[in-house]
Formats: sequence, structure tokens, C-alpha cells
Amino acid sequence: MPEKGDEKGRDQVRFTKIEYQLRLPFIMYADLESILRKKSTCEPAPTTSSTTQHQHHVPCGSCIYVKSSDNRFFQTPIVNFGEDAVEKFLDQVLATASECRQYLENVIPMEQLTQEQLHEFDTATHCFLCNKEFKQGEKGVKDHDHLTGKYRGAAHNKCNLNYRIKAKDVKIPCVIHNLRGYDAHLILSAAKPHHGEITCIPNNMEKYCSFTIGGVTFIDSCQFMMSPLDKLANNLSPDQFRETRRYLESMYRETSSHVNNVDDMQMAEDYRNHPFIPPTLNEQQQ
Ligand SMILES: [Zn+2]
Repeated sequence: MPEKGDEKGRDQVRFTKIEYQLRLPFIMYADLESILRKKSTCEPAPTTSSTTQHQHHVPCGSCIYVKSSDNRFFQTPIVNFGEDAVEKFLDQVLATASECRQYLENVIPMEQLTQEQLHEFDTATHCFLCNKEFKQGEKGVKDHDHLTGKYRGAAHNKCNLNYRIKAKDVKIPCVIHNLRGYDAHLILSAAKPHHGEITCIPNNMEKYCSFTIGGVTFIDSCQFMMSPLDKLANNLSPDQFRETRRYLESMYRETSSHVNNVDDMQMAEDYRNHPFIPPTLNEQQQ
């Protein structure tokens, strides 16, 4: 064991993987819908214990929403209905992840620095990434966000090179509420060889903490927020539905000329009536 006050700092543990501090540039949120089809069955014998299957879950649709750390990015949700809903959903998730990676390959040049930022850079004594002091005569480099072009601070050259998004390796997770208890069964049953390699972190033989298909990691938001989605949504105030508002505003922009004055009540009403799933399936949806 190194002694306290060791000259080379071996008595301290430091966080060195500074690239892990980067915000994920893209994340997908998704959900699958099923209809419940009744199963015809025989009456079990009343004298013995038995299990009777009375419903069959048939996937009928899905929705994917992509969110970026760059707020200027907006894409309307990707919705699909019909047969082979889960297979189509997987195709769309993988295609979307590939589009996101292509988007990241386009590096935005750094914006012109303000006088204040220039002064901050000229007088910087420490690297803003690793917090270590610049050595005597060493000059920091200007680090900027490749997605937005915004200046972030003065950094060591090495830190600057590490602190960047690698478009080919970047993780683009897909978050689904109650994935572990429901959607995972549908997704894994529908995965085909062309979707790519499957790896998973299992809880047991039937449930998985998370799994990866073709480079996209599926995670369960229910493991972080243990409440039904409607309860979680009820905790939000109307001004916190930012993404819903952006979507509704984009719809208005396409369909209406009175874009500049979208009334909250009207938007809420439209949201409730929006046909995410066909009306005929509304009553039977899971
Ligand atoms: Zn540094």
C-alpha cells in the first residue's frame, strides 16, 4: 500500500476515463402495443389444479422517438402498425441508430468565441476536463462540442482528443418502460439473424436486465422509475411536456396556418385524440 502523501500521488484514486463524462448524443424511447386475442379452451377438471391460457398477446404496433443532446435536432416519432410489428420495429430501431451514427460523422466547426470566452481561454491555468494544472509553458487547446459547435473550455491536447464522440462506437440506447416484464419477450422472439449479434445481462432464465441487438442496447426505465407511465406523466406540469409540445407544434406547422398561437388546451385535446393506434384496436389494446 502506498503511504499517505506519496510523491507520485499513488495514495489517491483518480477517475481517468474522461470520455465517459460525455453526454450520450442520441437516445431512443420506444413502446410496443399488442391486442389480446381470446384463446378457445376446454373447461379444466374441477377436481385437479390447473392453469388455463385464455388470452394470446399479438403485437400490433410500435412507436420510436429519438432525442438528441443537441436540442435543435427534432424528428417526428416513427410509428408502425400491422403484421410483423416487432420485426419491423427492430428494423426501424437499427436503421435509426445507423442514421444517428451518420449524423455524428458530420463534425460542426467551432463557433466564433466571444471576448469573454477568449479571455477565459487565455487565462486558464487548469484543464477543464481532468482538472490538472497546465505545466509551465504548456498551452491548452480549445475544446468544442462536435455536435453543436459550442466552445467548452481549455484542455490538454490529450484530454481534448479523448473527449470526443466516436461515431462508429457510440452507444445509442433504446429505453422501454417495463421492457423486462413485457416487451423483451416480444423483441427477443422476433429477432432474426440479419438484426445482428445478441448479448444480454440476465436476471434469470426468463428476465433480462438489459440486452443488445446489433449494437443497440435495450434498457428498462421501470428499473429506475418504478411506477406506471400514466402516474409518472401525472407528476409533470403542462410546461414539462416539452417533447410532446414540439411534436404537436410540428404537426400544426404542417397542417395549419395559425402556428404561432397554439393553445395549450387545444394541444392537450389533440394529444388525447391522436391516433397512435388504430381506433378499432383502442379498446383492446395492452
Ligand atoms: Zn487534461
